[in-house]
Amino acid sequence: SSRSVTVLGGGLSGLSAAFHLTRRFPAGSGIRIALVEGSHRLGGWVESEKVRVKDGAGHEADVVLESGPRTLRPVSKAVLELVHLLALKSSVLTVPRTAPAARNRFVHLPGQDGLAVIPGSFLALLRSPLAKILVPAVLKDARLFSGTVLNTSTPNDESVDAFLTRHFGADFAQTFGSALVHGIYAADSRVLSVRSAFSAMCQLEESGKGSVTRGAVSEMLTSRKRDIRGSADAGPYELGDIPELLKGTSVFSFQDGMQILTDTVVARLAALPHVDIVKGDGVMELSKATDEGGFEVATESGKRLPSSHIVSAIPLPHLHRLLSTPNYPQSGLAPLPHLTVNPSSSVTVVNLVFPPTADPIHPEGFGYLIPRPSTDYPSSSLGMLGTVFDSCALPSQDKPISPSPSPFRFTKLTVMLGGPYGPPTPAPSSPSFLPALLETLRRHLGRADPLPEPCLVRVREHKDCIPTPTVGHAVRMAELATAVREHWGANVAVIGAGVGGVSVGDCVEGGRRAAYSLEL
Ligand code: FAD
Repeated sequence: SSRSVTVLGGGLSGLSAAFHLTRRFPAGSGIRIALVEGSHRLGGWVESEKVRVKDGAGHEADVVLESGPRTLRPVSKAVLELVHLLALKSSVLTVPRTAPAARNRFVHLPGQDGLAVIPGSFLALLRSPLAKILVPAVLKDARLFSGTVLNTSTPNDESVDAFLTRHFGADFAQTFGSALVHGIYAADSRVLSVRSAFSAMCQLEESGKGSVTRGAVSEMLTSRKRDIRGSADAGPYELGDIPELLKGTSVFSFQDGMQILTDTVVARLAALPHVDIVKGDGVMELSKATDEGGFEVATESGKRLPSSHIVSAIPLPHLHRLLSTPNYPQSGLAPLPHLTVNPSSSVTVVNLVFPPTADPIHPEGFGYLIPRPSTDYPSSSLGMLGTVFDSCALPSQDKPISPSPSPFRFTKLTVMLGGPYGPPTPAPSSPSFLPALLETLRRHLGRADPLPEPCLVRVREHKDCIPTPTVGHAVRMAELATAVREHWGANVAVIGAGVGGVSVGDCVEGGRRAAYSLEL
């Protein structure tokens, strides 16, 4: 019988699955691979755009604007492998751990003006204005005894806020925990699962016999380095010399932005005779094929793709919709549990470029995060979650054009708003949004003078772009996997940011694992 794998969804997860399937089954293997994407572009939330900016004084530069992920930490073997296999080494941009952008990360405390740097050393901690939160926090955690360890062999879970409160106290959890969660998940730390979102912290708690601090100190003393993450189940990784290239790197990206990853995968897939890419034609229905136990994938335009195997890499609520159509009862497929349990965050992403100025717009660093206000959501800061100082984080990504050679640098920032605050007010479409945003930034940056007029403002409103794995997520996903295996068979994999983790590394890893786990 003919064997064909259909991958649903052309975001990073689906692209990674399709790419690794083509490595496992090259052209001529007799297996066809189809990738079906509902929108007209592939890449999902990964999107980079190059734009030329000018100021009134004759300065010009080409800048890269990211609307999704912008930097990667070198912690995922699956991503390093992808960089190697796609031959992207020459476009990698690295930020060394010693760079100011890597060392200086800030918080803006609600109700105060200016930024506080998060101390990077013990001495800095003692001198920091944040010491009155941090010192008691560490002391509290270091005194905890092993009785409070979450047992990793049982499916215990709690919210990030509850975990941090238990270890470091409520002030710390509110200030640093909520800010960190704003920065990664655009979500409320009081609902996010600690086991799914910060499993490393749970491991430190265990190795420190109940104290995260003790776990971290003993890890440092024994110089037990946490390895780059990756699972050998799906075969050894081919990393080439990428780990060497990324030695001592805090974060990295690419000269033309993150989209080079997805674009290059797409170009590789499109060149293969046994791969079909369907775009702008979403999956409408899934059903069991009448013969041979395979499946049929039907698209909006009426295409019917016979599929012996399926990888679903669309968001779980979208999969749920496919399983709730009027025709679904006749599909022959059992319903799947837990597809709609987790909420997801909507984020407004604002890219701003300021003209070269004599005074720096912001201090050198990676950017800043804003904790949850003590009065609970919403806040007075326009619902701002944080700001990335892009041109400081990756200085060589933007190219001055004129005058050349140019000592002038444009300043590129990205502001993230929304998440648990809801949509910003005033709305981004309102003429009062930009002045309100610039005034909020001025206050956060602790500047007396207004910010200069930006030469570029680009606003993207991303609906439901980051799923929130809520408490109990890992257990639910294990149950989902069991249900898929029992009711749909070993020929189906369900992956994606909402299943195995939202980071670029999790998505690439999930696709890779699915490609090797299907029984073909
Ligand atoms: P998606 O990108 O959502 O892809 C799913 C695809 O399925 C979409 O293309 C969609 O159109 C398609 N689809 C849906 N329904 C159907 C259907 N019925 N038929 C066919 N196709 C369908 N991660 C990091 O590691 N570092 C970062 O700095 C970072 N920053 C981020 C910033 C933002 C603003 C966002 C939104 C995310 C960020 N992330 C970051 C997270 C990471 O980018 C995402 O989790 C990841 O890109 C999700 O990939 P995915 O393929 O699982 O999902």
